[in-house]
Formats: sequence, structure tokens, C-alpha cells
Amino acid sequence: MSERFKVPRGTFDVLPEQQPVRERIQAVSRRRLEAAGYGHIDTPIFEDTDLFARGVGESTDIVQKQMFTFEDQGGRSLTLRPEATASVCRAYLEHGMQKLAQPVKLWMDGSFFRHERPQAGRYRQFTQVDAEAIGSDSPLIDAEMILLASDILIELGVEGVRLRLGSLGTPAARAAYLDELRDYLRSHEGRLSDDVRSRLDVNPLRAFDADHPGTREVMADAPTLLDRLDPEDAEHFADVRALLDRNGVAYDLDPTLVRGLDYYTRTVFEFDCESLGAQSGIGGGGRYDGLIEQLGGPPTPGCGWALGVDRIALALADGAARGPEEPRQGVFVVAGDDRRDAALALVTELRRAGIPADLDLAGRGTKGQMKQADRIGAHYALILSEEAKATLRDMDSGEERQVDPATLVETLSSP
Ligand code: AMP
Repeated sequence: MSERFKVPRGTFDVLPEQQPVRERIQAVSRRRLEAAGYGHIDTPIFEDTDLFARGVGESTDIVQKQMFTFEDQGGRSLTLRPEATASVCRAYLEHGMQKLAQPVKLWMDGSFFRHERPQAGRYRQFTQVDAEAIGSDSPLIDAEMILLASDILIELGVEGVRLRLGSLGTPAARAAYLDELRDYLRSHEGRLSDDVRSRLDVNPLRAFDADHPGTREVMADAPTLLDRLDPEDAEHFADVRALLDRNGVAYDLDPTLVRGLDYYTRTVFEFDCESLGAQSGIGGGGRYDGLIEQLGGPPTPGCGWALGVDRIALALADGAARGPEEPRQGVFVVAGDDRRDAALALVTELRRAGIPADLDLAGRGTKGQMKQADRIGAHYALILSEEAKATLRDMDSGEERQVDPATLVETLSSP
């Protein structure tokens, strides 16, 4: 016998019983975003590789290690989208959206692809809901976006959510700060852990996360990026914080928050869910004022976020936040062998009238069919006997009455 196929590593099937929680995440996001003026956009699953190389940043892990890149029959290099922002910005430019009233607010959801090491909550194909507002540098936008994400998570009932907030300032201020931090760490090199010392050139910010006592002492007095922002960036960040305070959003300032994409400037944020363990990030985003220009457009500010649908679904499945049990609905038509044709005709008539309906397709006896009606959660079982006679049984109360199958749609539609 040949070997059975399995899903590719790091991917998974979403089975029917796993859909309701995911559909609820998508429905709540859609309703809240559209009520806030975000229009629904869909972009292709694959794009020119260069879009991501330039948009996400050549030096990022995503571009260097995680992209699913392939050559098509015409020799073009294409990549399965690893994130949404670059695609949305491409669409903004391609469709001349800079001529519309600004900011242009867009949202989408769908699958994204990164070649990461698979583990619980980290997959190679995953689902995001994404929101972007392009064309305004007002701190109102940063605050609106964070509020929307926060309210979506609250309405969904995700518990133990923490919001971390930081500001990266401009790329120039950030580079100057990193040089200063490296110099500071070098001047205290003797007290740092081996790990921090070996990564000092590549990633000096890592030192802020260290558990090593000596390193922690050194870091207590280290300069932070938030202290080195240009005055306008510092003011912008203060405005964002004041707006969040005013709207009751709690956050922790995190001066070491850096995100895995190069395009961020000014505000950055991440939502974590403590019950999820190692892969606790359930969403994140920030401002990307240089990105559109980097993609060949005019200088245009933008801000966006992505929520991780798979991880939010995990958090909701773990917690007590499950929705109420589905009420029974529809009709299961129970029929003997000689009445099966009539059963299908009746089911079709019910379905055409918008009433959920089903019938036995496995040759069960009457008793087995009644069991099946119960198992699938039908509100009624309709037992077909003679031509113009049938018994309608309420599966909740057990109450039965005689009905005429020819007028069943009317019987069920009238209250
Ligand atoms: P990012 O685009 O990296 O900012 O990710 C935004 C959110 O998408 C994260 O907070 C996660 O919830 C989710 N996410 C990112 N990468 C993955 C992945 N490989 N598997 C599952 N979820 C992911």
C-alpha cells in the first residue's frame, strides 16, 4: 500500500468544528473595522519577490530566511505573501489612491506564509486580519488603530491581554541610538553575560531582556531609545499616549520593542496573551512613514496592524470565552426505503425556502435516522409515512403533531 499523504510541515487543516471561533474573530473584526470606515481589500496571495525584499527590508529575518519564493514558467521570481502591509501599499499606489480623500483606510484577511520553525502557535501558513490607514501622520490615526484592535480583542473575550507600546523615531535617530548603546555596553563589557557580549554588534537591544544579574545592573542605567527621540517624534508619541489614556487603553511602555520588519517609524505596538506561552504575540503593528516612498511612491505616511487569527483562536479555545451552544435548527426528514425520493424532494423544497434541512444518506433504519436527527442538532424530525401525512417531532420538547408535507414550508414559516 502506498503511503498516505499528510499536510505539509507547519500547516494544518481547519476542520468544521474549528471554524466557528475563527469565523467569529473574522466577523467581529470586519464589523468593527467597517463601522470605522475601513474598506475591504483583497490582494494576490503571491507578489513580485522584490516588493517584499524592498518593502519588508533586505536585512530582516522574513526576507533572508522565511519567504516561500519560486520562479514561474516565465522566469519571474514570485513570493507567497509573508505579510500584508507591502501589498496594501502597492495597491494604494497602483490604483492611484493618493488622489482619494486621505487617509485611505483598508482592511483584509487571509493566509500568509513564512518558513519558520513550526511549533504550537507558529505555522508556515497562518491567518491574519490586517488593517492599514495610509495618508495621515496624525497621532489620532495611531490611537484609532490601537483602540480598534484593543476593542476587537475585548469583544472577542480574549483574556490576559497586554499591550506593549514604544516609538522607534526616525531611522537616523534609531541608528545613532544603537551606536550610543553599543558604546555604552562596550564600556561595561566586563560585567555583561557572554551571550550579550557576543551579540553586541548584531543586536545590542537584546541586552535589555537578559536575566544575567551583571547585565541587568548595567542595563538599569542604559540609555533608552525613548530618551533619544527627535523632539517632533517625542511629541507625536506623547500625543498617542495621551489619546490612549483618554480612551481608557492600558499599556506598558517598552523602550526595547523592535519589530521584525524594517519599515516601522515612530509608534510600534504589540498585543500579547499570557496564556499562550512562548508564541504569545496575538497582534502588532505600527507606523511606517517611509514605506510608500521606498516602494517608489511620493512621501506618504501610513500606520497599520495585523491580528493573528490562529493564535487568538487558540487563546479563546483555552479560556472560558467559548460562545453559547448553538440552538437546534432546521428539519431532518426521516423516511423508509420506499419514501426516500419523496424525502429528497421535500428537503430540496425546504432548502429552497431557506430552511436548513437534511435527510439520511446512509441507509439507516427509522431508529437510526431519529438518532441522526438528534446528533446533527435538528430542531424537528419529520417522519414521512403515507402520501399526505407526516409526523413533525420537536426534538427539544418531544412534542409531536400531524402535518401535511405539501404545506410544510408554510407550517414552519408561520410563527
Ligand atoms: P507580524 O506580521 O509578524 O507583526 O505578526 C502579526 C501577528 O500575526 C502576530 O502577533 C501573530 O499573532 C501572527 N503571526 C505571525 N507569524 C505567525 C506564524 N508563523 N504563525 C502563526 N501566527 C503568526
